[in-house]
Amino acid sequence: MLGITITGVALISIIFIIKFKPSYKVSISGEEVGYIESKKAFEKELENTIINTNEKKENIDSISYNTKPEYKLSFINRNEKSNEEQIANELKQDADVTYKYYEIAVSNVPVETVDTLEEAQELVKEVKNEENQEIDLSIVEKYTNNVEEIKTDEIEVAKVNVTGKVTEQLVAEQKAKEEQERINAMPIVNGIRLAYMPVTGGQISSRYGEISSLRSQAHTGLDIACPMGTPIKVTSDGTVISASYSGSYGNLIKVDHGNGLQTWYAHTSKMYVQPGQLVKAGKVIGAVGSTGNSTGAHLHLEIRINGQAINPQKYLYN
Ligand SMILES: [Zn+2]
Repeated sequence: MLGITITGVALISIIFIIKFKPSYKVSISGEEVGYIESKKAFEKELENTIINTNEKKENIDSISYNTKPEYKLSFINRNEKSNEEQIANELKQDADVTYKYYEIAVSNVPVETVDTLEEAQELVKEVKNEENQEIDLSIVEKYTNNVEEIKTDEIEVAKVNVTGKVTEQLVAEQKAKEEQERINAMPIVNGIRLAYMPVTGGQISSRYGEISSLRSQAHTGLDIACPMGTPIKVTSDGTVISASYSGSYGNLIKVDHGNGLQTWYAHTSKMYVQPGQLVKAGKVIGAVGSTGNSTGAHLHLEIRINGQAINPQKYLYN
């Protein structure tokens, strides 16, 4: 009796298995869209399709689906076909792909982007070996959902661009270093460095203390003859105390540098600064002219300590 029952159950089971197959009924947003045979295989297949049809597949970091399918185990007639492809197409439309790429920055300024971390690391290593181990090169991981934002270059192209930027920076650093060395060699008056010569390329036409029939007293400054319009640079950081026409001085710019030190620039054709203005050493504050008591284009430079004019050639143009 028991034997017959077991045989019966087994027979029914075999018939069932021959006729039906286990599948998953798939619903998207509550709507049935068809059947798939294996959940895992389907999801893997879907992911592969998205990846393989993507123009930037090497940049894909992750995929998320806005529409989450629901799966329900069910048995369907073996004659019925599952429709993985159609379901996959539907899900594909609504998938969000996150892309990843790598930015290479020189001293924190983004210069290039490449597709993979390996490429970025290789590039940094090569550029450092060729250019300078000390150079500040960093790799920044970037993410985007917008494929258009990925503007990565081939590693060889990226390398040329990064190397160019590095060279540029090394040249700039070298220049800055040389400029600092030049400034360090400039004289200091009352604790204030005269970092810049007011004019370059001129010729001394009258020295401090000279007596001439053109003046009522001994010369209080140094005259440097230069072409009309030659830029005049302020020697040091300071505050403009006046910039106006002042009798025999003509257009006169006075700058206070603190510690009782002032520099005066006279006979200018142009004045580019105003009283109260803060100026950095080396800033062009005016242009050489021949205003006031002057017989030709020249800069009359005065250096005053606590109001007393001193010989500029003790420090500059000596
Ligand atoms: Zn003079």
